[in-house]
Amino acid sequence: MNDPSPAPPIERIPFTCTLDCGSRCELVACVREGRVLRVDTPADRPDTVTRPRLIPCARGRAQRRLLDIPERVKYPLRRTGPRGTGQFEVIEWDEALDTVASHLNEMRTAYGSESVLHAVGAGSITGRGFHGASAARRFFSYWGPVSEASGNESNHCAEMAAQWMLGGVVPGSDRATLLDARLIILWAMNPAETHMGPNTEYYITLARDRGARVILIDPRYTDSGILADEWIPIRPGTDAALVAALGYVMETEGLVDDFVHTHATGYEAYRRYLMGEADGVRKTPEWAQPITGVPAGTIRDLALAYATVKPAALLPGWGAQRTRFGEQIARAFITLACMSGNIGVRGGGLASVGTRSGEMGAPHLPIGPHHPSRQLSPGNWAASILDACLKPPLRMAHIVASNLINRSPDATRNAVALEALDFVVVNDQYLTPTARYADIVLPICTDLERSDLVASWGHDAHLFYSRSAIAPAGESRTDYWVFAQLAQRLGFGDAYTQGRTETEWIDQLLDSPCLERMTLENMGIMRSDGEPRVALAEFRAAPAAHPLPTRSGRIEVVSPEAEMYGLPPIPSYVADSAPMDRTYPLQLVTPHSKLRSNSCAYANPWLQQLEPHTIWINPRDATPRGIVQDAQVEVHSKRGAVIIPAKVTERIMPGVVCIYQGTWYRLAEDGQDHGGCANTLTDQVESPSGGYATHSVWVDVRRRDE
Ligand code: SF4
Repeated sequence: MNDPSPAPPIERIPFTCTLDCGSRCELVACVREGRVLRVDTPADRPDTVTRPRLIPCARGRAQRRLLDIPERVKYPLRRTGPRGTGQFEVIEWDEALDTVASHLNEMRTAYGSESVLHAVGAGSITGRGFHGASAARRFFSYWGPVSEASGNESNHCAEMAAQWMLGGVVPGSDRATLLDARLIILWAMNPAETHMGPNTEYYITLARDRGARVILIDPRYTDSGILADEWIPIRPGTDAALVAALGYVMETEGLVDDFVHTHATGYEAYRRYLMGEADGVRKTPEWAQPITGVPAGTIRDLALAYATVKPAALLPGWGAQRTRFGEQIARAFITLACMSGNIGVRGGGLASVGTRSGEMGAPHLPIGPHHPSRQLSPGNWAASILDACLKPPLRMAHIVASNLINRSPDATRNAVALEALDFVVVNDQYLTPTARYADIVLPICTDLERSDLVASWGHDAHLFYSRSAIAPAGESRTDYWVFAQLAQRLGFGDAYTQGRTETEWIDQLLDSPCLERMTLENMGIMRSDGEPRVALAEFRAAPAAHPLPTRSGRIEVVSPEAEMYGLPPIPSYVADSAPMDRTYPLQLVTPHSKLRSNSCAYANPWLQQLEPHTIWINPRDATPRGIVQDAQVEVHSKRGAVIIPAKVTERIMPGVVCIYQGTWYRLAEDGQDHGGCANTLTDQVESPSGGYATHSVWVDVRRRDE
C-alpha cells in the first residue's frame, strides 16, 4: 500500500481578538488550505513576571466556531417580513448599497442629516482603521452632521469622579506592582471574568502566593472568589455607605494617613460628614450595617486591616458605579485610597479608569470636517425616537457593530423605537436581535477575515498587527469597504479613501515613525514592557513639582462640579429613592459574563455549552417562592419580564438576584423575553451626570407553572 501523500503544511497566522472584554490577547490561526483548523497561542513568547504572555480565554480560542454558525450573515439581506421577525432575502451588493445611499440622500434632502441616527458599538472594536466605529465615523464626518448614539456605558461615573477629583482619567498602576501588595481588596472587581487588563488575575494569584491577603467585596461570590481569602457581600448601590463607615473607624482610631492632608484638599468637609458634625449622624459601622448588609464587626475589621496593612491595593471594578448614584461611589473609592495613604506607592492602588493604549502613538485614519450635531446617550436614544422630542425628528438609523436593542436599558422599548423608524441599516457579522429590525443588513468580516492594527486594553501599552487568516465568508466585507462604496455613490469616495485600499492604508500606518514595522510584521505585536509603572508616584513624591491638573494641583475631595448635577459636594452616601415596594422586592445585578463580551460571541454554541444562562437566587429567596434548582422562573420588573432557569445558590446574598447581561433578546408571543436578556428588565433612568444605572433595578421572581 502506498503512503498517503503528506498533508499540506499548516500556516500559523497571528491575529488579535478584538472583543471588548477588558483584555487584549495574542492568538494564532492555524490554517490549512483556507480553513481554520484551530486557534492557538504564539509558541515562542517569553513569559516572565515583568513580561507575561497575553494568554487568550475560551472566547478567543472558540472564534473558529463563529465563522459558520446559522446566525452568520454572509450576504447582503433585504427585509421581506415585519421588523423583528427575521424574514429577509439575499440581494446583490450593488442593490444593497444603492438602496442605502439613496435613503441617506433622501433623508438629508427632506429632513436634514441630523434625522439620521448613527449608532456604533463594540461589536468589532479597537482597530486603528477598518473596524466598525472608525470606518463609520470617518464616513459620516464627510457625509454630514448626524445624530450619534454614543456614550460611556462602562464607567461613566468613574470617569466623572476622576475628572472632578484628579483632573482627568489616570490609568492605575501596572498590574505587576500588585506583587508588592500585602492586602488586595477586590471591590466589585471580578478579574477572573472581566480581566480589567490582561493578567490581573495572574498577578493577584502570585501576590497571594507571596502572602498577600485578598478580600472580595461583592453581592456575589464571583469566579474571582477563588482568588480571595474572604468574601464580604454588600447590597448593590450602598458602597459609599461602607466607605463612610470604614472612614469613620479610621478617623476615630487615629489611622487616617497624613497623605490626605498633604496631597488632597477638602478632606475636612468629608471628616465632618463622617463624624456627624454636619447632619447629626455619625457614620459608624452600626449605621452602615442595615444599609449595606455588612455586619458592623466585619466593617470594623476591614477598616483596621485597610488602614494598617501596607501597602494595600484597593481595586474597584466598574459594576459598583453603574448604579443610581454611581458618582458618589466612585468618588468615595478615591477618597478612601487617599485616607489610607496608598496612592503613588508600589503595591498600593487607586481607582482607575484610564487605559494606556494611546501611548504607542499609532495613528488613526483621519476624520473629515463634520462632527455629530446631536449626541444621544445610549440610555435615551430610544426615548428620543418615541417621544419625537427632537427637531428634526429621527427618521433613519445606520447601526454599525452594535446590538443596540440588547445593549441599552429597556430592550423592549428599544425594539419599539427601531420599529418606529422609516429605514434601518445594520452592518454586522451576525443576525443579532438588532439586525432583525433592519431593512438592509450588510455582512461584515470577522477578526479572522480582515487585517488591522489593534490597540491594547487596560494598563498595557501594546500594539497588535492582526492579520487576515482566511478569505471572508460568503460575500462579507470590512466596514471600511462598505463605507468606501457608499462614499463613492454619494460623491465623496476620493475624500474617504484618499485613493487607498485597506492594504495601502495599513502599509502607510505601519510606516509611522513611532512603530517598529519589522517587529509588527514578524511578531504580530509591539510591546512596551519594562519596570512596572506606579500611578501618581511622581505626584506623591513631590506634589508641588508634579501637580495634578485640578484647581489646587491636589486631589480634590470636594467637587463643585458634582453640585452642578445636584449631588453633594463631598462623596457621601446617597440612598436610591426608588421605593422597594412589595411588587419588586429583589435587587437585580446584571454583570458581564466570561462567555461573551456584552452580547458579542453570544451565538457561539461552544461557549453556550460551558455554562447555562440562569438567574442566581439565594435559597432564602427561592424557598418561600417554591423555586428549586433549574426550575423555569419568570422575572418581572417595571419594564418587562424574562423567562429563565433558576440557579439556587449561596453565591449570591439574600435580597439580590443576578442575570448575566448579553444573551440575545427574544420576545415571544406571550410578551415575555425567552432569551433571558438582562436589559429587558433594566430601566433607562440614569445617574445624575448621565451614567448607566443598570445595577439599580428591582424585580420579583416567580415560579413558572408550565
Ligand atoms: S475575549 Fe478577551 S481575554 Fe478572551 S481572548 Fe479575547 S481579548 Fe483575550
